[in-house]
Amino acid sequence: MFQVILPLKRGEIKWHILRLSLRFVSLHESELLQGANMPVYNNEIFVQTTGRTDIVDLTPLVSKEIIQSGVNDGAATLFVPGSTGALSTIEYESGVINDLKKAIERIAPEDMYYEHNERWGDGNGYSHVRAALMGPSLHIPIIEGKMTLGTWQQIVLLDFDNRPRSRRIIVQIS
Ligand code: ZN
Repeated sequence: MFQVILPLKRGEIKWHILRLSLRFVSLHESELLQGANMPVYNNEIFVQTTGRTDIVDLTPLVSKEIIQSGVNDGAATLFVPGSTGALSTIEYESGVINDLKKAIERIAPEDMYYEHNERWGDGNGYSHVRAALMGPSLHIPIIEGKMTLGTWQQIVLLDFDNRPRSRRIIVQIS
C-alpha cells in the first residue's frame, strides 16, 4: 500500500491518501489483535430423537451453554450436522407444534413421489426437502449474559428423518 502512495508528488493528494491508508491499516491491525485475544467457546449438545418430524425444545440446554461460556455480550451460533435435521424457533406449546407439523406435511408431504427415494431407496426424500427448507443453523445475540429470545420463543431441533436419530448440535459462543 505505501509503495503505491509514496511516489506521488502532489503534497495534498499524497497526504490525503496517506491519512486514509494509515487509518485503514490501524483499524485492520486492531481488528486482528482483537480476533487473537477473543476466546471462542465450543461445545456439543447430544439429543436422542424419535425422527418423523420430532420437535425438541433445546432452550434449557443452550441456556446452560451460555452460562458455561461466561460470555456476557456476544452471540451463539448453533448448527446441526446432517441433511435431515433443522433448527428454528417457535413458541413451544403443543397447539402450535402440531400446527407446524401439519404445515410442513402440506409443503412436503411424506407420501409424494421423490426422486431421492428412487435413487437411494431410503424413503426419506421428504425429510431432506423439509430440512433444506427449514435450515440447519441459528445465530442468537447474547446481551448481559442472556440470549435475546422473546418471552414465548424457544429454540427447537426438528428431526425430519424417517427413523430415530442421535443428533449432535454444535454450539459456538463468542
Ligand atoms: Zn436420504
